[in-house]
Amino acid sequence: MKRPLEPFRIKVVEPVKLVSRQEREKLIRAAGFNIFKLPAEKIFIDLLTDSGTSAMSDYQWAGLMQGDESYAGCRNFFHLKETIHDIMGYDYILPTHQGRAAENILFSTLLSKNDVVPSNIHFDTTRANIEYLGARAEDCVIEEGLNSELKHPFKGNLDLQKLNQVYKRYGKNKIPLVCLTITNNSGGGQPVSMENIRQVAEFCRRNRLLFFLDAARFAENAYFIKMREKAYGKTKIKQIVKEMFSYADGCWVSAKKDALVNIGGFIALKDEKLFQKLQNLLILREGFPTYGGLAGRDLEAMARGLYEVLEEDYLSYRIQHTAYLGNLLIAAQIPVVQPIGGHAVYIDVKKFIPQIPQSQFPGQALTVALYRQAGIRAVEIGSLMFATKNPKTGRWIYPKLELVRLTIPRRVYSASHLEYVAEAVIAISKKREQLKGLKLVYEPPFLRHFTAVLKEIE
Ligand SMILES: *Cc1c(COP(=O)(O)O)cnc(C)c1O
Repeated sequence: MKRPLEPFRIKVVEPVKLVSRQEREKLIRAAGFNIFKLPAEKIFIDLLTDSGTSAMSDYQWAGLMQGDESYAGCRNFFHLKETIHDIMGYDYILPTHQGRAAENILFSTLLSKNDVVPSNIHFDTTRANIEYLGARAEDCVIEEGLNSELKHPFKGNLDLQKLNQVYKRYGKNKIPLVCLTITNNSGGGQPVSMENIRQVAEFCRRNRLLFFLDAARFAENAYFIKMREKAYGKTKIKQIVKEMFSYADGCWVSAKKDALVNIGGFIALKDEKLFQKLQNLLILREGFPTYGGLAGRDLEAMARGLYEVLEEDYLSYRIQHTAYLGNLLIAAQIPVVQPIGGHAVYIDVKKFIPQIPQSQFPGQALTVALYRQAGIRAVEIGSLMFATKNPKTGRWIYPKLELVRLTIPRRVYSASHLEYVAEAVIAISKKREQLKGLKLVYEPPFLRHFTAVLKEIE
């Protein structure tokens, strides 16, 4: 298997340590079998998330020194604004401290109780922000996107028939906006095609609906378009990105992903009136509109990262690097979502551990096993994160996909690290019938996976 070739070399190192098996056992119990509660220093390879975990370049670090920490009108804001205008084409920007703050400000402004927001698949913070306002988040991804085995180049695409059904059922007045998550994080990091973005935009224009992109991984999505969509094989990434955003009224971005920074986010949009409304809420919640909850230096690192992520040798390495882990697992017959997405490899847990029912959180059980086995932290994207209670019957509705995500931070781990991870998964698969289900001891009212406490079922 071809090892991915890194288009960078190492200038600074950060030691990582594998604590003993005994200590790992003690720690996972103390954490209530919830990997979010483990001290990060006790983790050897941390694949919890690609969010805010990127390694910044020397150019970005140098940018931190050039942070202008003026309260209003710092130069880094103008640099960021020009950058976003250049890359995405939007005139108005609102920096936020991260993606969910952008969601909160956008949805608090646009949504009323009982409204409906369709998307391909809503990311967990997106769904939570919508539901917190008493509105509904409707997932309309194509059926192929729900089948982990089917190979389709754009499994993140939105099904226009499903969108039309939602539109017919609730009506225009109940749908303040339509979104598309690019790439589709909760559906396996799968890309959305340019054709699909265009069709959704066309649907929204015809029905006079706002259309926003949840664009945390816009560059990875653009690279997939270049690789997989015929008409774009020779188009420059920068041009693909510009076209993607041209179809939408605006976007929100968690800059902790493709902007290659450790903190940050923004909303960018075309309409001045909506911008003004959002700005008022931004001042209340995040800060003055030229810093929005960030330091000037953070804005600078973000502006520089947004350009770096468009470099084709970086994107080619990035996508190959993630696929390298995926292909090692596929070669060992581990069931993973295919094709491999941009930022993570997803294990299909229903197939990996069929004996544990979703009511006993098999995905969470696998994350526990990975830590026990090898000091690796992965994350469950399944029944613990997404199960909902039917308000009428009180019965639990489980998500179709039960996944464990091995998320690859950008520019952080080597190919040897990925080989170590693959070996651990393969070792677990050889004793998978010994894995135990879990039950909840404590759960908060929303986003329960972050703080839930669980117990093993003996
Ligand atoms: C990470 C993410 C968010 C939320 O952003 P945060 O920076 O974590 O608050 C929203 N949508 C998508 C698709 C994401 O990946």
